[in-house]
Amino acid sequence: MENVDVLIIGAGPSGSVASAYLNKQNIKVLVLEKQKFPRFVIGESLLPHCMDHLSEVGFIDNIKKHGFQEKTGAAFYKGKHKTEFYFNDQFSKGWSWTWQVKRADFDNILISTAIEQGVEVKFECEVNSVDASSASEQTTTYTDKSGKSHTVKSKYIIDASGYGRVLPRLFKLEEPVSTPPRGAVFCHIHDTKRTKAAGTNIFVHSFNENSAWIWAIPFSDQTTSVGVVSNVELVDEFAANNGAKFLNHIRTFGDLAGRFENEQLVFEPRTIHNYAVRSKQLFGPGYVLCGNSTEFLDPVFSSGVTLATGSGLLAAKLTEKVLNGEQVNWAETYEEKLRRGIDVFRTFVLGWYNGDLQTIIYSDDIDSNIKKQICSVLAGYVWDTENPVVKKHKTLIPTLAEVIRIKEKQA
Ligand SMILES: Cc1cc2nc3c(=O)[nH]c(=O)nc-3n(C[C@H](O)[C@H](O)[C@H](O)COP(=O)(O)OP(=O)(O)OC[C@H]3O[C@@H](n4cnc5c(N)ncnc54)[C@H](O)[C@@H]3O)c2cc1C
Repeated sequence: MENVDVLIIGAGPSGSVASAYLNKQNIKVLVLEKQKFPRFVIGESLLPHCMDHLSEVGFIDNIKKHGFQEKTGAAFYKGKHKTEFYFNDQFSKGWSWTWQVKRADFDNILISTAIEQGVEVKFECEVNSVDASSASEQTTTYTDKSGKSHTVKSKYIIDASGYGRVLPRLFKLEEPVSTPPRGAVFCHIHDTKRTKAAGTNIFVHSFNENSAWIWAIPFSDQTTSVGVVSNVELVDEFAANNGAKFLNHIRTFGDLAGRFENEQLVFEPRTIHNYAVRSKQLFGPGYVLCGNSTEFLDPVFSSGVTLATGSGLLAAKLTEKVLNGEQVNWAETYEEKLRRGIDVFRTFVLGWYNGDLQTIIYSDDIDSNIKKQICSVLAGYVWDTENPVVKKHKTLIPTLAEVIRIKEKQA
């Protein structure tokens, strides 16, 4: 029987950041990770706001050494329309750049840095059951790679298990999502024909009347992640026969045409169905959920890792307070806060697929202040209530779109 202060399930970005923060406060942490690292995971384009979290736990220097592709903005396309956002021209005060990363390498650097700082991590150890009936002591059972079962007692549990969604599954916290079922088909491809004009920032191009889009995320080693997000029917059609239609699509599509002709794949196309997930509560007696264990909306604005590092850091800070005997109002300081930020992205995601946001960003006479405010959301600063687009997101996005449509009709 092992005893720790805090047990963290999962060594992705959320678990790494949470573990490093707690370790810095001299809190005894154990991270249990199902897989052997490095391991593949999708989610390669970061947002500047996650740099605040990575910097707070002392990860930046080690990440810098790897030489990941720097990301200074994002380019959006639709038919003949093109618009670019640069993070050095945004409303909120914050980071003006971040990285595009192969997650196998990136996540390995994060957790290795946490280990370097003193965090104990057990890889190839899968959490199977959790007894959290007592708020002050939880009993977790896990299996190691030889199949041997172990038990660990902790004073708190942070569930950072991503799509493993360990506590949402075990404690029946899963909640249906309200968005239509969507999926993705993607691969990594050599990109030796990449020109300077093509740029190195993420490229997002919508098609099929806003219902589908392509991503291209260039990496620093002259390979690129390419993917299509759409309803699951089109994803299945694209994925059939080793992704034949998908590969044909990205090789012939508008601004990508010619770029990937005859290029070799780094790996064959893979698919993810029904990626959107949601939990009906984000904390309970003796435990808290963070990262993808809470909610995942949609990849279009690359919000996943930033929400994972931000929620991991906040969960760790509040857990520290609990261990110090302080009263924590988890509903207000954690769940409501997190959901407020997620809701800003939700408005953007809904506005992307229903066309409102695209109407605004592709408009020829978009107000430069509005563009800066939108840019800050795209940079991940979704808790900056000084930003009108954050503060009034629900009404502002549809209203602005309507005004632009009326103006365009009158013109
Ligand atoms: C198609 C698609 C594209 C995306 N693109 C982007 C993007 O460009 N940018 C972005 O920021 N996000 C993107 N995302 C989202 C991103 O993948 C996730 O939000 C992010 O990885 C969540 O991080 P995490 O730390 O919560 O979980 P993860 O990174 O998934 O880590 C969770 C860890 O928990 C471990 N685990 C699971 N179950 C157990 C268990 N029982 N016991 C022990 N360990 C366990 C797993 O092995 C894993 O290592 C995308 C998602 C999709 C579907």
